[in-house]
Amino acid sequence: MRAAETAGLRVGVVTKAELHQATTRWAQGGVAAALSGDPEETDLHLSDTLAAGVGLCDIEAVRVLVDEGPGRVHDLIALGALFDRDAEGRLELAREGGHSVPRVVHAGGAATGAEIDASGST
Ligand SMILES: Cc1cc2nc3c(=O)[nH]c(=O)nc-3n(C[C@H](O)[C@H](O)[C@H](O)COP(=O)(O)OP(=O)(O)OC[C@H]3O[C@@H](n4cnc5c(N)ncnc54)[C@H](O)[C@@H]3O)c2cc1C
Repeated sequence: MRAAETAGLRVGVVTKAELHQATTRWAQGGVAAALSGDPEETDLHLSDTLAAGVGLCDIEAVRVLVDEGPGRVHDLIALGALFDRDAEGRLELAREGGHSVPRVVHAGGAATGAEIDASGST
């Protein structure tokens, strides 16, 4: 999508099956990202993820995940993904296993992947 937008290239997407059969379409509970606005939250997300990974995580990869996660969620919103919001219009953040604070954005309750899939298709 970026190549098409920024360089004006015609881009084809090749998959081994239909796009809607990819795993992303079926993701449910949501996307974890440090979106609370608390400056400590990115490092907390890092330590939560490393703790949950019990020594199996590539720390550099987790650092990229926690640093870039909020920006990628905002990219999805800019593409049209409608994540669930509270009455004041703030993103609803759920707390899931392994997370010490609420940080999981979701869409349609447990239909997050379907919403991400739809936003990328438009
Ligand atoms: C039921 C379910 C619930 C989940 N819930 C969550 C959740 O709440 N939160 C969360 O973070 N994660 C969740 N996950 C995991 C998450 O969905 C995946 O980690 C994520 O979607 C993987 O994205 P991806 O782009 O790597 O792979 P995919 O979305 O699967 O995309 C891979 C693409 O590559 C194509 N492909 C594969 N092999 C080839 C090939 N040889 N040639 C050409 N194309 C090929 C496929 O056709 C597909 O289009 C869930 C997964 C499932 C199944």
